[in-house]
Amino acid sequence: MCVGGKLEHEKMKRHQRFLGNISIEDEEKEKTKKKEEAYRRRLEKQKEKYTCECGSVLRKGDKATHKKCRKYQGYLNQQMTNKEE
Ligand SMILES: [Zn+2]
Repeated sequence: MCVGGKLEHEKMKRHQRFLGNISIEDEEKEKTKKKEEAYRRRLEKQKEKYTCECGSVLRKGDKATHKKCRKYQGYLNQQMTNKEE
């Protein structure tokens, strides 16, 4: 049932394009716009700052790198030492 519906939909779109109601350029423009928006949103998120549990202020985009850095590793070691006490 679902598959049939999808096929119908595709047919419709193609038909619309054939009629000239939807141009391929318009569709491409729409797609590009959406992609750019998503990309910009991702960039904005990466730039957002947050305070790490170790006390460092960093950008979300640097999180992966930071987890490998000496300061964070030192913090982790400290945490473990504290638990042992
Ligand atoms: Zn940290």
